[in-house]
Order: sequence, then C-alpha cells, then structure tokens
Amino acid sequence: MKIVGGKWSNWSGSVVCRPREIVAPRDEVDLAAAIRKAEGRVRFPGTGYSFTPLNATNGTLIDLSAFVGLKGCDPGREVAVIAGATPLWGLGSLLHPLGYALKNMCDIDRQTLGGAVATGTHGTGITLGSISADVASFRLLLASGQVLHCSPDENAEIFAAGRTAMGMLGVMTEIDMKVRPFYKLVEKHFVHPIDELFHQLDGLVSTNRHFEFFWFPYSDVAVCKSLNETEAPAPTRHSARTLRARGERRTPDEFIFAGVNELLRYMPALTSPAHKLFSAFMPGMERVRWSSELFPSARTVRCNEMEYAVPYAKSTDALREVVEMIRKKRINTAFPIEFRTVAADDIWLSPFSGRESGTISVRQYYKVDARPLFESCEAIFRAYEGRPHWGKMHTRATGELSRLYPKYEEFRALRRRLDPKGKFLNDYLEAMFD
Ligand SMILES: Cc1cc2nc3c(=O)[nH]c(=O)nc-3n(C[C@H](O)[C@H](O)[C@H](O)COP(=O)(O)OP(=O)(O)OC[C@H]3O[C@@H](n4cnc5c(N)ncnc54)[C@H](O)[C@@H]3O)c2cc1C
Repeated sequence: MKIVGGKWSNWSGSVVCRPREIVAPRDEVDLAAAIRKAEGRVRFPGTGYSFTPLNATNGTLIDLSAFVGLKGCDPGREVAVIAGATPLWGLGSLLHPLGYALKNMCDIDRQTLGGAVATGTHGTGITLGSISADVASFRLLLASGQVLHCSPDENAEIFAAGRTAMGMLGVMTEIDMKVRPFYKLVEKHFVHPIDELFHQLDGLVSTNRHFEFFWFPYSDVAVCKSLNETEAPAPTRHSARTLRARGERRTPDEFIFAGVNELLRYMPALTSPAHKLFSAFMPGMERVRWSSELFPSARTVRCNEMEYAVPYAKSTDALREVVEMIRKKRINTAFPIEFRTVAADDIWLSPFSGRESGTISVRQYYKVDARPLFESCEAIFRAYEGRPHWGKMHTRATGELSRLYPKYEEFRALRRRLDPKGKFLNDYLEAMFD
C-alpha cells in the first residue's frame, strides 16, 4: 500500500485520496473492532494496482498487510487456505513445497490475492477461468463485524456474488483456492501477420493451454505468446524475496520503452514507425520455468488501462474495429493492445459470467491524456456487449450495468442486506451499486 504524507495513491497515480484515519489490524478480531468503530465509510485496498477509484476514501482506510500467508491445505480436495492479503508473488513459494500451484495467473504478481479476486483478475486460456473462478470458499468479515464462511453449500448466494464484489460485501480474510499439482510451462514467442493470425486463431486458442497476442496498432503483425505444460528441465525456483524484487526491477527493454513513451509525447508522428520497429524486432524466444515464475512479468512503465471482455465469437471483430479507429483518428499510444481468452463462470458480477470471452486491453502512458483513446474504444466495446474489467478504467453506469449483468439487481439487494448503511461504499461504488 502506497501512503506518502497521509495520502494513499494507486499504482498509476490516477487515484489519490487522504483518508481521515489509517488502521492496521493484527488479526480478525482487531479488524472487526476497527470496522465497527470506524465513523463513516471504510475501504481496504490490496496493493493499489487497480486503475479505478475502488479504494478512494476520506474515511477509514484499512491496511490488511497482517493478513498474509498459507493457513492450511486440504490435499484430498486440492484446496489451499490463503490469507486474503497474501501477495501473488509469494504464492509460488508457499504452495510449491506442498506440491501445488495455482491453475492460472495474470500478467503480473504485484497484487494481493484478495484484490485480484475482488476484481475478477484473469490470465489467458479458453478452458481456464479467472482467479475468482478458482475460489472454492472464503471467510467474509461483514460491516457488522460478523464473520461468515461462504461456499457453494454455505451462504451460497454470498459465495456466488462475493467472488467478484470489489470489497462491497465485506473483507475476505481467508480465501480457499482450488490448486493443482505443480507444473512447468514452456513459453514461446513468435510473430504472425495479423490476417493469418485471425484465420488461425481458434486453432491456436484451443491447442495451447494459454495463448495471447499483442498488437501494436500501427503494425500489421502480432506478437504471439503460448504457454504449455512440459516435463523439460527448468532452472531452480527463485525465493519469494527474489520474485518480489524481480517484479519491481526495470529491464533494459523497459528502459527503452519508457524512453520511447516520453519521446512520443512530443513527436506523435513517430508512433507508427515505432510500432513497426517494435513488431519487427520482437525476438522469438523459448524458455521453460515453473508456472509461478513464468506467468508474471515485470511491468514497470506506468500507464492507465481499459479492458473489456466481449463474447469470444465476436472478439476479433471488436479488436479490428478498435485498431481501425486508432489508425483513423491517429491516436498516439506506444503500448500494444493485448488480447486474451477466459472461460465462462457463474459469478454474478464477473465480466465472464455465463460467457466464454475474449478480452481486449488498451493502455496509455500515464503522462498522456487517455481520454481520446479510452472514450473511442469504449464506444466500440459498448456495441459488442462488452463488460468492463472492474479494476480498469470505464464509465459504465447503473442503467447499462443492469442490462449487462443478469444478476445485477440481486447483487444490489444482497449488498444492501449485508451492509445497510453503505459502510463499504465510496462515491464511485455508490453511483454504480447503491
Ligand atoms: C501493471 C498492471 C498489470 C495488471 N495485469 C492484470 C492482468 O494481467 N489481468 C487482470 O485481470 N488484471 C490485471 N491488472 C489489474 C489488477 O489485477 C486488479 O486491478 C487487481 O484488483 C489489483 O489487485 P490489488 O491487490 O492491487 O487490489 P486493489 O487495487 O488495491 O483493490 C482492488 C479491490 O479489491 C478489494 N479488496 C482488496 N483486498 C480485499 C479482500 N481481502 N477482501 C475483499 N476485497 C478486497 C478492494 O477493496 C478494492 O475494491 C493489472 C494492473 C496493473 C497496474
């Protein structure tokens, strides 16, 4: 959690707030007391890697950093009990000695497990769900201070809603994650002309455990990445400490990329040649690592991001429209568009609820006004029944959300029942969910 001079800010710097009070409870009893005692509203961030103002508050900010670690493991059910604020970079080292690993992970490992679950954070793989979809059950501390265990058999409604609830129903103090025997992955990068890629996409998506691609919009090729299980030897795993540091360390490529972003602010005409150059010189590569080390990369060049999930069958049409629009309006962004796939789930507010999805994310350097890019993209995503990533920028409002999420009204009713005074809301969440 980043607090400087009493001010909390998120990773990109787009959200800054000054809480009246910051408390750091040591355990669940302390946490319940802090929530009961708090006057006014309460928010409890993870690492602050969301771009939206989910954590903005001038009330009480709760620092959950004491809620970390592995609390147990049930090998029979392949479920690991993990404290809610455990950082993703620490999970590999906790699970590996027991012979387990997460089924899938996202692009980075800076987030807390609770933060990732709360926003439906996901990786890629058409047969694999988001991190929220792999939650088997959780302990939820409510606004009243009461603690509930939620699973498909116990408090089933809260389980269905609470796995992607942006912290509006309560604090997940422990999360029981479905895990699997540990595994190694081989990562391959290759470049494909975009028309050829679209022609072969279904095959690439179905024959690789994980497939995704990055498209610099002024170029006609995509940089593809596949990950598949392998028995080939991998280097010894790094310690949690090393992985923690690795995610913050800027690589030489990222130094260059940061420099290019600065240059394009003043010389936007160079965007198109820069994209062609990036795509042409993207090195093909192949490497084998344990899964917890291979999924996450370091992403140190600050940006703001919008990501939408659209029905998989329409996703390439939506992506083509986005790229055509960027070219037509000559929008300057050095970042590539990322395309991933996610399996359908049954979580009420999940972007993947009831539908197999293609996700499209667009990014803008943090010093550049992102509105021209995001507003034009959102208009396209809207036409494709797109659902926003809750941790990334969007402007969807109540009326639209009720059309996009069949369980939206049930969610609001449940939220009001569990937190009638709206203790766990802020202005941003209230506008969408009260
Ligand atoms: C560089 C970068 C890369 C990213 N890559 C991906 C990616 O590959 N895939 C993807 O899907 N997303 C990605 N994201 C988005 C990110 O995963 C989400 O925004 C995630 O929620 C951030 O986790 P956090 O721990 O920082 O939570 P925060 O952003 O601090 O909080 C998010 C929400 O979680 C709630 N919360 C936190 N802890 C708990 C808890 N214990 N119980 C209940 N609610 C809780 C908070 O109240 C808040 O509403 C990325 C973001 C960045 C900045």
